[in-house]
Amino acid sequence: MRQNKNNVINLNVAKRKTTRQINKQIVMSLIKEHQNLSRADLARLLEMRRSAVSLIVNELLEEGLIFESEMGGEGQRGRKPTFLQIDSRRRCVVAVDIRKTQTFLVATDLTGKHLTAVSYFPTLLEPEKFVVQLVNKIETLLAKELREYSCDGVGVIVPGMVDRTLHRVIHAPTLGWRNVALREMLMKQSGLQIEVENSGKACVLAEISANRQLAVQEDVVFISISDGVGCGVVTSGEVLRGRHNIAGEFGHVPLSIDGPPCSCGSNGCWETYISNIATIKRYFGHNCSFNEQKNFTVTDLIALARTGDVKALTAIEATARYLGLGLASVINAVDPARVVLGGELTGAWDLIETTVRTALSERTLTNDAAAISIEVVPSGDNPRLRGAVALVTAPAFAAAMVA
Ligand SMILES: [Zn+2]
Repeated sequence: MRQNKNNVINLNVAKRKTTRQINKQIVMSLIKEHQNLSRADLARLLEMRRSAVSLIVNELLEEGLIFESEMGGEGQRGRKPTFLQIDSRRRCVVAVDIRKTQTFLVATDLTGKHLTAVSYFPTLLEPEKFVVQLVNKIETLLAKELREYSCDGVGVIVPGMVDRTLHRVIHAPTLGWRNVALREMLMKQSGLQIEVENSGKACVLAEISANRQLAVQEDVVFISISDGVGCGVVTSGEVLRGRHNIAGEFGHVPLSIDGPPCSCGSNGCWETYISNIATIKRYFGHNCSFNEQKNFTVTDLIALARTGDVKALTAIEATARYLGLGLASVINAVDPARVVLGGELTGAWDLIETTVRTALSERTLTNDAAAISIEVVPSGDNPRLRGAVALVTAPAFAAAMVA
């Protein structure tokens, strides 16, 4: 498990270009990370005067983002110290991960802790029908399990390009959606606050929020392998969007110009070699029916490979090689400090890392680049749902520029 270091240097860099908003975000992040902090602790960590810290804390208390409680200090004489905590009481976020085959949802508190089990249902590919279906599921979840809670918002991630200004899904190839006003439709149907974002971009946003990269801007790429391939790139502290919201779509960069047809209409995109659907197809052979694949997951395939099933292992190994080859293009293009990989395939990382690394080193432009740090997020951590939660909660915690 990756540890968040209490990095005072990071905080000081932030302080130099401090606005009140950034200071509030820093305080929120510190309270979230340490759980219980007193005002004195905060003043020490931030190297600020108590009075300045109190001003920030009072504003956060007024906004209902944190609360004070008397804990510890039992039996001590004099005034008991009060501790600050994120106010997650009776407030929840619903996270939604839309994929071609299934849509996953979970409710969490404001710190991302799951309040319900992750549930899923088959995705209806017609946007209007899908919206009714999803709102139904969200309403049932809130009514059944979270009646005492108020919902701060619903974070929805989609496997496609999203215009965050117009709040539209511009193009989601695997779903066959173009120009879908998903946020507007969902808000109208549910009356809830909705945030919609591309899956890769949401994942990378959650990643930098979790690692509290408040001011030191380490370039990072998140690759999320599911039914498709989502990528999110952060450079100089900002999520890369580009002029038309398609920047960082490495899943649709071809590995081979005459490769298999891709949902985007092109051929040989990286996604057609490494997505879960591609890996399962490779195992079954290209003639198997969609339904046959639907009930069989990459996790099942990995389990088979571990029992010594050569065909399963070969299918996974092939994906691993293509993963490394495509990853080299990502690294040659962006040259990030680290790459984070998410998706069911990471469950086989011990089996495939050598193959991925070998393929990577064949194509990266320097040896140093080939030795890049690759972090794997266990699929049990639900990185995509974490990304969806961050859409609602990150603006309070992260630096403004990445929200
Ligand atoms: Zn494509």
